Amino acid sequence: MNLQGKTALVTGSTSGIGLGIALKLAEAGANLVLNGFGDVEAAIATVSTNGVQVRHHPADMSKPEEIEAMMQFAEQQFGAIDILVNNAGIQYVAPVEELPVERWDSIIAINLSSAFHTTRLALPGMRKRNWGRIINIASAHGLAASVGKSAYVAAKHGLVGLTKSVALETAISGVTCNAICPGWVLTPLVQKQIDSRAVDGDIARSRHDLLAEKQPSLDFVTPEQLGELALFLCSDAAIQVRGAAWNMDGGWLAQ
Ligand code: NAD
Repeated sequence: MNLQGKTALVTGSTSGIGLGIALKLAEAGANLVLNGFGDVEAAIATVSTNGVQVRHHPADMSKPEEIEAMMQFAEQQFGAIDILVNNAGIQYVAPVEELPVERWDSIIAINLSSAFHTTRLALPGMRKRNWGRIINIASAHGLAASVGKSAYVAAKHGLVGLTKSVALETAISGVTCNAICPGWVLTPLVQKQIDSRAVDGDIARSRHDLLAEKQPSLDFVTPEQLGELALFLCSDAAIQVRGAAWNMDGGWLAQ
């Protein structure tokens, strides 16, 4: 897989799945625009391999004007965005009638609307060059629901719908749009859920129970494995994979 000369923008790539995907894209030679909060320097160091150029933009993905600034920054730095990975996401667990309105709004904004904004801004350039890959990191929750996650499930189902629509609108072109639907991945987003479910501080038990509820393999998906799937979606062999919602979930959705 050779992505030399291509530029990838991965939202929410300072941690977890986004960082894992960014690393795989860098190993294949793509220049990178990272985005996200936290330890930016460590993330840049992690993906600085293979002579690729790496930039970071701190756009808050809940804010359309900051997203527009990030997209302009990427085009200015590298002249193009060839690979767009919409990965930034947050979670909040509560019954629907107790879900704070501002949590609903921020989950929809970050997990769904941000992908609309990046896509509408990246597509004209991709169409002009007749090459592009849009990869939306949805979730098993893009295809099935769980209790206490109404905003997240709605956003991820919406992201799968957006993926299909964009795939149809780009079908006669060298641009593809697909979703990846991970099951449990042991990242900070999931560690918080494990911690909050733990009874008497028994984290190991809580982790086991979390897997046992949904993921028949009883093992976590890894960011590296998801990065390999993203790489495949960038390959020539994947040109007819369009509008897919591809689960990698230890059997979650087979049940
Ligand atoms: P994570 O918490 O490790 O990383 C989230 C990233 O998004 C971080 O880089 C963070 O800085 C960034 N981010 C958060 N809010 C942001 C904002 N407003 N603007 C810009 N960046 C922001 O989470 P993760 O588990 O790696 O999740 C990444 C994606 O994968 C999310 O969309 C999540 O829904 C999805 N996902 C995760 C799992 C899982 O089990 N971890 C499963 C399925 C899908």
